[in-house]
Amino acid sequence: MDSITVLSGGVGGARFLQGLLHGIAHGRLPGVSPDATVTVVANTADDLWLHGLKVCPDLDTVMYTLGGGIDAERGWGRQDETWSAKDELAAYGVEPTWFGLGDRDLATHLVRTQMLDAGYPLSAVTEALCRRWQPGVRLLPMTDDRVETHIAIADVDSPSGRRVVHFQEYWVRLRAAVPADAVIVVGLETCSPAPGVLDAVTGADLVLLPPSNPVVSVGTILGVPGVRDALRATSAPVVGLSPIVGGTHVHGMAHQMLTSIGVEVSAGAVGRHYGARTSADGVLDGWLVDERDADQVAGVREAGLACAAAPLIMSDLDATAAMAAAAIGLVT
Ligand code: GDP
Ligand code: CA
Repeated sequence: MDSITVLSGGVGGARFLQGLLHGIAHGRLPGVSPDATVTVVANTADDLWLHGLKVCPDLDTVMYTLGGGIDAERGWGRQDETWSAKDELAAYGVEPTWFGLGDRDLATHLVRTQMLDAGYPLSAVTEALCRRWQPGVRLLPMTDDRVETHIAIADVDSPSGRRVVHFQEYWVRLRAAVPADAVIVVGLETCSPAPGVLDAVTGADLVLLPPSNPVVSVGTILGVPGVRDALRATSAPVVGLSPIVGGTHVHGMAHQMLTSIGVEVSAGAVGRHYGARTSADGVLDGWLVDERDADQVAGVREAGLACAAAPLIMSDLDATAAMAAAAIGLVT
């Protein structure tokens, strides 16, 4: 296998990609050439406009992580970050004050916004930003169009009893601590896949769904018109790894998001939610669950998927490469 395509969110996807590249470089992935190239289709529904700037959290997390610029402890944003601009904006009383806008990170958003204003599509801007970071993958936004995830939450002060907030406000300001009543992805149905996205799926030798959030990361990418059909049509095997381990997410808020779309929070249920390509609208051939969830393997197999259990905690590069190898081993 010479070309691998990965549909990625932010932190979980980026960590997986680090391990995948490590596994490729060290020849640890069954049937994968050490020269194999990786294309990443990244979620852009977390994007937001902030103080006049276009911010793309998942694209930047992948770019900084693979390019060596990430703050490894936080998992997002730049290492050696300072926050003067954020403090100054707050001193002016300018909202929002809750978003972590670092000084170094700000330069990325300035360059991006300037290029967008000059008429370049996000995919071209991303390519330009990656010329600096050299992430070792081809990084594509899922779409060049504006798509934004909003979350409906209960609000007793509102006549309707609910309020809709931007995904980032739900995650960063509210810390996903209140139940999400609904996930509304504005613009998803009418957006177009960015150039290269569908070809990356249909032309790959292997497609991987990393342990990214199944609703607000991979789920939004699958909702881009044409992407689900491309996954169903590709001659490449499609295999995913569970972000749910032992009945809950490892980090993040997959728990809250799955509950809001009525999917049980378990590794097996997420695999069945993606579904087998042999079923009506499924996208997977294989699904890897954590060893703690071994009791769910049989149920996933009954749904028509190849399935096995393996350690799925991305503790270091070797462990993550072993996860990738186990996933690939399921479908090759
Ligand atoms: P985000 O966009 O930054 O939220 O990142 P992603 O959507 O790419 O990934 C978030 C998901 O990664 C969460 O649902 C976590 O459960 C999952 N995750 C994080 N670390 C691990 C890990 O070590 N193992 C597994 N299996 N999942 C993980
Ligand atoms: Ca994200």
